[in-house]
Amino acid sequence: MLVGSIIDVTSPQGRFASGAAVLDGRECYVAEAYGKHLLLHFDGEIFLHIHLGLFGRIRKHKIPAKDPRGAVRVRLVSATHVVDINGPTICEIIERESMEKLICRIGPDLIRDDADPDRAYERISKSRVTIGKLLMDQSEIAGIGNIYRTEILWRQSIHPDTAGRAITRRQFESFWTDAKELLTIGVKRNAIITVDDPPARSRVGERLNIFNKAECPTCAGPIARLKINGRRAFVCVNCQPLVPNKKLRV
Ligand SMILES: [Zn+2]
Repeated sequence: MLVGSIIDVTSPQGRFASGAAVLDGRECYVAEAYGKHLLLHFDGEIFLHIHLGLFGRIRKHKIPAKDPRGAVRVRLVSATHVVDINGPTICEIIERESMEKLICRIGPDLIRDDADPDRAYERISKSRVTIGKLLMDQSEIAGIGNIYRTEILWRQSIHPDTAGRAITRRQFESFWTDAKELLTIGVKRNAIITVDDPPARSRVGERLNIFNKAECPTCAGPIARLKINGRRAFVCVNCQPLVPNKKLRV
């Protein structure tokens, strides 16, 4: 779409005009997503770093370019496609050194081939912070959003208040494999799907197990509501018991 093409870069909204001028007319070598971060590598060792945050969005269409919709911070036009980015929380040009630091900081992105579960487990298994909080910290594992956090912990029978260091290696491996599968499905189908067989034309509720629900599909028990880092979370008190861990009584 963009890779291998000379890119015309503009900022229709104007807030990225100087950055766009630096990138305009350069070739894009590589475009990579790390969790919610997007990195585009341009010739001259220059990287465009985008983070969409909660409200940012990317729109793509084939050329010819249509009029920008809303406040388009940056528009990238290749020989074949137009990519518009609206409302990112971060839109900046960085150099290689900062790019490498950024990748170290945001942690292994589960669905990349080079993702390293050992590195993630090493950090999680030393932490007193709860797994629910760790999963929302993009520097631990990039890519797991709020809904996936609730859903995958439920699928793995792990209570979100379990401390990172109480998570066993086996639990973590199972969690990682499951998360990887679900995130891959999510990208492919462009929807968060955590039930095994959603109907072909399903509504959101039919694609999830316990998020925003009152009853557990497995045990029919009540779903408790929590707030973790200010975000909604859900837990089945039967299927995800909070196991006290002796290691924690120091
Ligand atoms: Zn249950």
